[in-house]
Amino acid sequence: MRRFVDLHTHSTASDGTLAPADLIRQADRAELAVVALTDHDTVAGLDEARRAAEPLDALQFVPGIELSAQPPSGTLHILGLGIDPSAPAILSVAAQLRQARVRRNPQIVQRLRWLGVPVTMDDVRRAALDAGSEAEVISRMHVARALVRAGWVRDTKEAFARYLGKGCPGYVERERPAPHEAITAIHGAGGLAVLAHPVQLGCTERGELERVVRGLSEAGLDAIEAWHSDHDAEWTRLCVDLADRLGLGVVGGSDFHGGAKPGVRLGRPRVSVAALSGSLRRRFGV
Ligand code: AMP
Ligand code: MN
Ligand code: MN
Ligand code: MN
Repeated sequence: MRRFVDLHTHSTASDGTLAPADLIRQADRAELAVVALTDHDTVAGLDEARRAAEPLDALQFVPGIELSAQPPSGTLHILGLGIDPSAPAILSVAAQLRQARVRRNPQIVQRLRWLGVPVTMDDVRRAALDAGSEAEVISRMHVARALVRAGWVRDTKEAFARYLGKGCPGYVERERPAPHEAITAIHGAGGLAVLAHPVQLGCTERGELERVVRGLSEAGLDAIEAWHSDHDAEWTRLCVDLADRLGLGVVGGSDFHGGAKPGVRLGRPRVSVAALSGSLRRRFGV
């Protein structure tokens, strides 16, 4: 029996570098029991992934999405796991998020030009298309890759640290749904709403984290991503404790982006099937 799951991954449908079918094959080679595809703001990769997973008896596929929401501070992302990709509720919120990207991307490029970094939207589009991406979602990751290509920074990490990260001179906000709207859309599509990478909320003390998560829980949140490539052992423990206290489930994933995040491997950190609650396991078919 396979023992590990990865419930947070990206493909070329958003800002990952593996096509959905290749991601599924890699998950099978890694002997995962369950893999979820959770591209940013789109369900475009889910059909291909589901078809690739169909003949693989030992691998369960979970269709998912990662939605950005208005954060109290830092970054607030909510995963929808086990969604129906044709549900109008999810399609409409995802389309709104993509439209906000279309408005924001040229503003980022404009800022960079003011900063003396003359990239163009064409460079960014090319960076998105080069890995075979459908480019339905163009994210800051693609801008970062355009900057690497043009030699302005060594790697995407430096691009975020110097230009694109929150608080940097090239950062531009985009409109996002309120947390309860994202959660309601995920529930409307039959999915579970999961707080992704809680460390990225940027809460500086436990009480603040608890207040934020309590608010999300009241808005219908189902689970917390306790295991994530950005979490150390202490963060994982904090999340598991908090979930226990608030009666939420715990899940985990890598946030794999292929070559776009070279340090992050599919299936790492290890997330054991046994760590998931019974209801989540039934839901994911393991
Ligand atoms: P966006 O959704 O356009 O705001 O872009 C966010 C994406 O950029 C995330 O999905 C990450 O893949 C990536 N990202 C955000 N912050 C960083 C960072 N500090 N370093 C590297 N990648 C990042
Ligand atoms: Mn991403
Ligand atoms: Mn995220
Ligand atoms: Mn992600």
